[in-house]
Amino acid sequence: MKNRYQIAALLLLAAAILACVPVLYSLHQARKQAIREKYVLLDDVSASISRQVGSTIDVIERLRAEMRSSGDAPCSPAGLLRMQRFGISSQIVKSTLYLEQGKVICSSGGLLMQQIVLGPQTSRALDGVRVYTQVQVPGLPGREYVVLEKDGYALLIYPDGLIAPFARPDLSLALFNSVDGRYTARHGALPQRWTTATMDKDNDGHFTDTESGYLVVRRLLRPGGTGVIVATPLAAINARMAQFAHWFIPIGIIAGLAVLGMALVMIRRQWSTRAELLRAINKGHFFLMYQPVFCLQDDTCIGAEALLRWQHEDGTVVPPDRFIPFAEDAGLIQLVTRRVLELVVKDLSGFFRQYPGFRLGVNLSPRDLQSMDTPQLLADMQRAIGPGNGRFVVEATERGLLEEASAQDVVAAIHALGIEIAIDDFGTGYSSLAYLTTYRFDILKVDKSFTSTACTEAVTSQVATHIIELARSLGMQTLVEGIETQEQADFFRNKGVIYGQGYFFGRPMRAAELSAFVPLHTHPEQHAGTTTQPRGRPAAALD
Ligand code: C2E
Ligand code: CA
Ligand code: CA
Repeated sequence: MKNRYQIAALLLLAAAILACVPVLYSLHQARKQAIREKYVLLDDVSASISRQVGSTIDVIERLRAEMRSSGDAPCSPAGLLRMQRFGISSQIVKSTLYLEQGKVICSSGGLLMQQIVLGPQTSRALDGVRVYTQVQVPGLPGREYVVLEKDGYALLIYPDGLIAPFARPDLSLALFNSVDGRYTARHGALPQRWTTATMDKDNDGHFTDTESGYLVVRRLLRPGGTGVIVATPLAAINARMAQFAHWFIPIGIIAGLAVLGMALVMIRRQWSTRAELLRAINKGHFFLMYQPVFCLQDDTCIGAEALLRWQHEDGTVVPPDRFIPFAEDAGLIQLVTRRVLELVVKDLSGFFRQYPGFRLGVNLSPRDLQSMDTPQLLADMQRAIGPGNGRFVVEATERGLLEEASAQDVVAAIHALGIEIAIDDFGTGYSSLAYLTTYRFDILKVDKSFTSTACTEAVTSQVATHIIELARSLGMQTLVEGIETQEQADFFRNKGVIYGQGYFFGRPMRAAELSAFVPLHTHPEQHAGTTTQPRGRPAAALD
């Protein structure tokens, strides 16, 4: 019972998790994917800006190389002409300059540009380029320019022009000086802290600034020189997530509820079937059918097997295959077994007084073989029927015998009551035969699936024969189930099999029918006496 509640609680928990997990997981995945895509965009833009900066530096290199190779003095008329040509070669370069010791000597922009005020300068970078920031051009207040210089040859640049082509409302763009952390060009929101390397904990150039809610790419173009920042607000991604959630959460909840509903229906059905079975046990809605067992050698009925049926209140009869497995799972099988034994007493007490040597087979479930209550119940049954009346056989499957070591004690206690043990459905269960030597069995029942193929060309046609030989070598009696034809009966008789059971001899019948059936298929003295039979005795001695 406790188990059932645990299972129900687990099912509910699983359904709840099932409802949430896919929604949360897909949202999480979608967000990760959106962030990945954004970083790809930011990387692309930062690479393009880097290329712009790189091509500007190329201009200085070319200017310097051409001036040197021409031999023109920098500020000579010919030199100035050359410098002017470079000054108009690029959209970003405002003017070319020649500097000496941090001062402008001459400029392609004429006297105006000569009056520019150079701001702080960086030390030379690896490529020999030095950067002057906060450069002011007379007459253009409020605009900060940058000067790039190599060996005196310099370019005056309006750095915003480097980033302007990439400006978009959803992007923050900047060039910065990694020495002083100042922005030299900027577009959009740009907290000062982004220029410091400490923000980038992984040092891979990517970071999320949770305070301002931005994804940021920060790259240094030249060590100790210019850096580029491209960023985008997370708000755009969050908006996309909200859109996702708008669809996914209701779908997820509906799916989750459907699963939950199904789980509840299953639990309810299980519980109601259990309650129904329990009611049937208490109200005695069961009856037994008895299927005759014959001695193949002299064609007489030597016993029967008790087969259980459940009769619903509306009269429908449920076969055992439909409720025994459920009773086993629901932990009710021992109550069912108790009921079966009570029914045997009720049905056959009178019959056994008339036929005390008549054998009756009763089916036990694996759980029955693990409980010492079972021999107790069997003893109660024997006592109620009357000492010496009836010879009982319990039928156990291989499954039941293998499951627990405790079955050994139960089997021994059953034997001690003079009750025989048969292995039912032999050959259909486990491949290990080791248990045959662990236990003491009296009868081996060949499963009906082997009977039907025994007289055919089927691959399994030899199995029944081998089982019979195996039983013989172990000193056990054999009972062949499911004999439906004269041919099968003859086949097994010729193999020396002693017992047979099946529709050929008789279908399962009510107790009253059995009472009428038995006298027609027995010799007058048969079933007279009863003694406990030691293992391996031939059938003739049993009857
Ligand atoms: P089982 O012990 O192997 O019982 C034999 C089954 O084969 C019975 O089905 C019987 O009606 C059927 N049968 C007998 N002769 C023939 C034949 O010639 N041809 C064919 N095709 N079938 C034949 P039933 O009564 O439906 O029982 C099914 C199973 O339910 C039994 O198999 C047994 O495992 C289980 N069972 C029946 N009664 C009880 C019971 O009281 N307690 C427990 N634990 N299990 C039971
Ligand atoms: Ca059986
Ligand atoms: Ca069987």
